[in-house]
Amino acid sequence: EISVEAEALIRTVIKQFESYVKLNRRIPPETLMSIINIDNPGRLADLVASYLSLKADEKQMILESLTVEKRLKRLSSILDKEIEVMQVEKKLQGKVHKQIEKVQKEYYLKEKLRAIQEELGEEESSDQPELKEYKKKIAAAKLPPEVKTKADKELERLSQMPSMAAEASVIRTYLDWLIELPWKKKSKTKLDIAEVEKILNEDHYGLAKVKERIMEYFAVLQLTGKMGGTILCLVGPPGVGKTSVARSIARAMGRKFTRVALGGIRDEAEIRGHRRTYVGSLPGRVIQSIHKVGVANPVFLLDEIDKLGNDFRGDPASALLEVLDPEMNKEYSDHYLEIPFDLSDVFFITTANTRDPIPRPLQDRMEVIDMSGYTEEEKLGIVTGFLIPKELEKHGLKTEQVEFAEGALMSLIREYTHEAGVRNMEREIATILRKIATKIVKEKAPAKTVVKKSDLTEYLGAPRYHYGLAEEKDQVGYAMGLAWTEMGGDTIPIEVTVMPGRGNLTITGQLGEVMQESAKAAMSYVRSRAQDLGLEDNFYRHFDIHIHVPEGAVPKDGPSAGITMAAALTSALTKIPIKKEVAMTGEITLRGKVLPIGGLKEKLLAASRAGIKTVLVPKENKKDLDEIKKEIPSDLNIIFVKEMDDVLKVALAGEIKGIKEMKDIKYLPDDEQPIMYA
Ligand code: ADP
Repeated sequence: EISVEAEALIRTVIKQFESYVKLNRRIPPETLMSIINIDNPGRLADLVASYLSLKADEKQMILESLTVEKRLKRLSSILDKEIEVMQVEKKLQGKVHKQIEKVQKEYYLKEKLRAIQEELGEEESSDQPELKEYKKKIAAAKLPPEVKTKADKELERLSQMPSMAAEASVIRTYLDWLIELPWKKKSKTKLDIAEVEKILNEDHYGLAKVKERIMEYFAVLQLTGKMGGTILCLVGPPGVGKTSVARSIARAMGRKFTRVALGGIRDEAEIRGHRRTYVGSLPGRVIQSIHKVGVANPVFLLDEIDKLGNDFRGDPASALLEVLDPEMNKEYSDHYLEIPFDLSDVFFITTANTRDPIPRPLQDRMEVIDMSGYTEEEKLGIVTGFLIPKELEKHGLKTEQVEFAEGALMSLIREYTHEAGVRNMEREIATILRKIATKIVKEKAPAKTVVKKSDLTEYLGAPRYHYGLAEEKDQVGYAMGLAWTEMGGDTIPIEVTVMPGRGNLTITGQLGEVMQESAKAAMSYVRSRAQDLGLEDNFYRHFDIHIHVPEGAVPKDGPSAGITMAAALTSALTKIPIKKEVAMTGEITLRGKVLPIGGLKEKLLAASRAGIKTVLVPKENKKDLDEIKKEIPSDLNIIFVKEMDDVLKVALAGEIKGIKEMKDIKYLPDDEQPIMYA
């Protein structure tokens, strides 16, 4: 008799076996019929088990189950597992099958395409010469093995493409780049320090210190015999000859010269190139320049490295790092090229206007050489010795045809240009020569033209800068400060007016926070010294004070205008004018101490340019002056100041009683006294 449980188990097992047979092709479907017809549950279990491919111990386990229910249960669970395994197997097989099908289909389609193209061969044959041409070019280009492999592969792709396909033109451009790049082409170079010195002197006036530093750099290079240690970085305002020094170095080394302006590059891809997937993509600027110059070992000037931007589109500085790093630039990777290019024979030189904004890791790899501005004397030397002969030649004129009077040159320097370098100067001379050339061609002018100071208005228009003292006479509440900028130094006047009011302090002229603070510090200093300065104790209650720094559109900042503001304030309040020929620079503390400043050389040159005679400089800057003494015009009278009282004593064109008494305060030994430098 069959129990209900056994009956249920029988049905389950039969159902499972049905699924099993469906999944397993090896068992003929008729088997199912014979199984359904079996009445004896024990026999059913044994027969089903015999069809399954089971391991011996599994079979043994079924045999060992003596009661029918137990045996059916075991069988059912084994069937369950088997079905699941087979389902997974089937799924996998399906996937593999699909993949094979796809590959076959592609192969078939490609073959078909090839057949069609062959059929069309007659008409399409026009692109065959192109392929042949490329083949010839690739063979002639003597490419390094890996480049050749890549070029061949691309050519193969090109040959399978209809010539009108958009991608075909992408491949053509790419092939052109591969073929034209100077992978191995190099100019013959030499490294002879005497030659470098000779050519630097041939091309440049003065610059003694810069030349000396460059010679040192080359001496080391010659001794170690390898490039790729540190990289020269020439730092200075525009027009001081950075590019021109780099060109001379190239000439001396027998290398070609190329440059990339980095100013404003924010996108890493501009240096490293765009991937070829972009339409119209190109290699980066570095590879483009190498392509243009046509050799793999030029002198490569990376201009304005301090102006490198940095935003979300990657970090150009890190790309540059790879360009400059001797470890990495052997295999410089450009996104477009895909094949590394060897930059290790390139002689890199960088330039910057200032050192600070240069990314730190780049700075670490560079040997910085400062090139600050020129004095009037130096400019005169450069103009007569270099710029005029150069421009004469450029304009097809002979030395005998044009002469510049010294007065004219001085006026060019002082009244027509106002710069640390000589770039505008060069431009003005070119303008004059152009006009003379026109005259010679048009009117058959006299054999020799002499350019005198009085002729300048005719050639260049009215003078652009007012040379000499900004003010004709000593002024109350007006002091001349000195500022350092990327363009060299500059003078910045500071004005103070005092009007009846209630003690408000107004500060204008686009001043940065630091400068506003030093204005307030100056004010507090004056208030605290009111008695000594001969002012009423609470004078400020009855006045409004306005401090203004003209040329307001230019943002200004920095602490070094402190003593200038204090001097202008004192002058405005005491009504004692400030001497017109005096300029000053220095930070002020609340107790009237004068703290040191930066950019001394640029500031002194700017003062000299503006026709200032006496400059007040913080005493602690004396050591800086000792270093640059030779480069400062000798007629500039430099006075070191330690305290605000020293400043007032020298700058004010009148005496203040309180200050006079200060004289009694004992200074320490001699060298602590204010020093008259000149
Ligand atoms: P920078 O690269 O520093 O902006 P450039 O090298 O372009 O400046 O110089 C501008 C012009 O001034 C060039 O024609 C250069 O030859 C000339 N020049 C600058 N300094 C000197 C110098 N010391 N002697 C001769 N020419 C100079």
